[in-house]
Amino acid sequence: MKIGVLALQGAFREHLQTLDAIGVEGVPVRLPADLGEVSALILPGGESTTMRRLIDRWELRGPILDFAEHGAPLFGTCAGMILLAREIAGEEEPILPLLDVTVRRNAFGRQLDSFEGELSVPVLGDRPVHGVFIRAPVVERAGPDVDVLARLEDGRIVAVRERNVVATAFHPELAGETRFHRLVATMASEHADPGEGSGRRPHPTRRSRTPR
Ligand code: GLN
Repeated sequence: MKIGVLALQGAFREHLQTLDAIGVEGVPVRLPADLGEVSALILPGGESTTMRRLIDRWELRGPILDFAEHGAPLFGTCAGMILLAREIAGEEEPILPLLDVTVRRNAFGRQLDSFEGELSVPVLGDRPVHGVFIRAPVVERAGPDVDVLARLEDGRIVAVRERNVVATAFHPELAGETRFHRLVATMASEHADPGEGSGRRPHPTRRSRTPR
């Protein structure tokens, strides 16, 4: 099983190194064809406006949406979370609207441009996650199907999951934190090889709705 890392801009090398550290082969994804050989896709931190432009230039938008709609896991960190949000506060168009959240970019302002802190992330176990926040976004609204994985002490949401899509406002790959990547690898192997009887759950946008 291989996991792709969108390698257009930003902190993609650190994600490839983290995958290497957990014994998973990471593949840089730059062209639509690169998605054909991976079972999950990581969207790194960087600059979401630049990534938006490059995603369009390389015609990756449709292929990434198809990839997700077939149930492959996606994991976005920081700018990657912005890419996945259905709404970006103050911007007209989302980029890859796969996660029913509203995010605000650069939510911590100049005083607190970058900061680090310990976060409780119960789905990853008792040991706290060291959160590295760099001009980070925050989740201002999470839809009813979104699981909140972590909050700051003041209650603001900084990690979420909706079915096959996981996103963090912080950078696990810059903190030697491997548990998110392990979670995504587990999700990817379940997707690539669903156990007997588990069936594949299509993404809700493709699910037929039968009126009762
Ligand atoms: N501030 C960046 C943006 O809005 C995200 C920062 C990051 O990914 N570390 O795109």
